[in-house]
Amino acid sequence: MKRLAGRSALVTGGNTGIGRAIALAYADEGADVAVAWIEREPEARSLVAEIEARGRKGRAFRCDVTSEADVAACLRDTVAAFGKLDILVSNAGIQHAQAITEMSVEDWDRMIAVHLRGAFLMAREAARHMIPKRRGWMIFTCSQLGYIGREHYSAYSAAKAGLIVFMRSLAKELAPHGILVNGVSPGLVDTGFDPLSDSMKQVHAASLPLKRLGTPEDMTSAYVFLASDEARYYCGQLLHPNGGEIMP
Ligand code: NDP
Repeated sequence: MKRLAGRSALVTGGNTGIGRAIALAYADEGADVAVAWIEREPEARSLVAEIEARGRKGRAFRCDVTSEADVAACLRDTVAAFGKLDILVSNAGIQHAQAITEMSVEDWDRMIAVHLRGAFLMAREAARHMIPKRRGWMIFTCSQLGYIGREHYSAYSAAKAGLIVFMRSLAKELAPHGILVNGVSPGLVDTGFDPLSDSMKQVHAASLPLKRLGTPEDMTSAYVFLASDEARYYCGQLLHPNGGEIMP
């Protein structure tokens, strides 16, 4: 029996990187999967074809997660396509390395908006759908930088720290409604997302107990587990696929 058979999922930022790997892993486990993207449409279209080649329904919706109207439309279209939404993976993100002295108010606001306003809008719409059904799973992509921070990543790290406690608050609020909320906190994953140079990435990899950077596929077992019945006693927890960099 596939672990997500009969479930439907929406993965934001699902067309590339970690989100794409999650979408394919979910389809492999029997779920229908929609992804939300903002710029890279060809990747979204090819992903839908890959999901459908696995015998599942796939959809891709252009949706700016910071837009209330886009998010409402995305949830509505996902439910229309699959008949319901069981699993939300809030994974969309952006990254800039910036000295604090160079950061504009717009840079700061955009970073906070994509990670926090986006997570809030998606979670609110999903909760409105899931609460009457008394069933659902929400998984937030956090980051170990939300624990430890990093120079030139202050806005990103602050946004991810906020996301961790947002996730935990929702976990407490929604558990009585039958909705399990948890998070995944990846270490450095070589998706092109992080602007570190190749030489810096090599230095970082050498510093890790496991001596290599993560791949998107290294992340997926955590997301499959947290959306499965095996995670029935997990509430407000963060899993840390990070090669051993931090051990919170
Ligand atoms: P990618 O750049 O591959 O993925 C980022 C995704 O977010 C893309 O699908 C992008 O869509 C989407 N996105 C960005 N802004 C918006 C928006 N406003 N509305 C909708 N979608 C948006 O990077 P990763 O896969 O590496 O990152 C995925 C998540 O993992 C992020 O939340 C990131 O913070 C987190 N993470 C990544 C780590 C890493 O080292 N890579 C480490 C820890 C956490 P499009 O392609 O259309 O632009």
